[in-house]
Amino acid sequence: MKRKIIAFVSALILFISLYYANKIVVASYPYVREIKEKSLTDNAKDYKTTQSEHFIVRYTPQDEKYVPLVLKIAEKHYANVTDDLGYKPHNKTVIIMYHDPEKMNRDFSLAKGDTAMGLYLNGAISIVSPELWISPGQDLERVFEHDGPIVHEFAHLIVDDVARGNYPVWFTEGIALLEEYRENSFVWGEGVTADKPYSLKELTYNFNQLDETLAYKRSFEIVKAITDKYGMQSIRDILKCLGKGLSLNDSFYKITGVDLEKFVDSLK
Ligand SMILES: [Zn+2]
Repeated sequence: MKRKIIAFVSALILFISLYYANKIVVASYPYVREIKEKSLTDNAKDYKTTQSEHFIVRYTPQDEKYVPLVLKIAEKHYANVTDDLGYKPHNKTVIIMYHDPEKMNRDFSLAKGDTAMGLYLNGAISIVSPELWISPGQDLERVFEHDGPIVHEFAHLIVDDVARGNYPVWFTEGIALLEEYRENSFVWGEGVTADKPYSLKELTYNFNQLDETLAYKRSFEIVKAITDKYGMQSIRDILKCLGKGLSLNDSFYKITGVDLEKFVDSLK
């Protein structure tokens, strides 16, 4: 009898500590992130700074001519993205514009050789100068807005803020791609098809080992299917549950009454 009580009590303690551990991680996340954000922006402390109502751009002199464009596109999509995701950042969002992608990768701790056009990490956005990926013959503003990283990375920042770091990679990528689709009609991996779509487990535990295009595409399709069926409000609600420390599966179930794995499996 006594043994049973001890077993029960230790199970209870384990349960409570697991429950609160996640809450503590989630609660302390903004403070930890703020410290990390400072060290990221310190990397660009010699850069020039220009701000608009909601954004701060840091840049080197050779990119000064692109600053109005970056701020224009960021401000243009600010209202829609913050409405969609139900949250406005408390501070201005920092965008660091790099003319040296190698430095960007080093500062944002991306593996060497893996060059991205934009990155989000710890509360700060980095982008590669448009000069390095848009050729002079192209329509600079149209290409930068449609194919550029601003909406995508800003969506990552909001997800991270609301969910307090508590989300799988595929979910934030799906939301970022959904925002690109809603804002710029950009469809990731259009025309590319998988023989067998990735399962929720593969996306959750193996995202970085999967085929990049197919993994992003599947993430986009799942998030889009969630909003098609349950509306954008469901995404806003799920993000809030994540921010309270619930897992994605529990959050999804709480908002929709449906098991996430079953929902994903039902999508072909
Ligand atoms: Zn992304």
